[in-house]
Amino acid sequence: MTTAIEMPRVQECVVAACAYNNAGDCHAYAITIGSMDHAHCHTFVESPVRGGMESLIAQVGACQRSDCQHNEQLECHAPSIRVGPDNDLADCMTYVGR
Ligand code: SF4
Repeated sequence: MTTAIEMPRVQECVVAACAYNNAGDCHAYAITIGSMDHAHCHTFVESPVRGGMESLIAQVGACQRSDCQHNEQLECHAPSIRVGPDNDLADCMTYVGR
């Protein structure tokens, strides 16, 4: 038997250039955060094709930033996250270094 675990929601994403973004919300099913040097959103994509589903708000599926206080075993345990420009055009703004 498996247990459904709620993943952190993407409360807000201000990266309007992303194909998954509509009016400040991310509509991908789940996103992946993390790069070697900063908390980049790997799901960000510029495309003429609209991404995601309007009826849902994205969750954080995985995060590679093990140095973030919200990270345990490469999973995010923050209540929710915000995405916006920081080191890059689309980064996790909820990142807190240990
Ligand atoms: S809050 Fe921390 S652990 Fe959660 S997605 Fe952002 S960088 Fe990763």
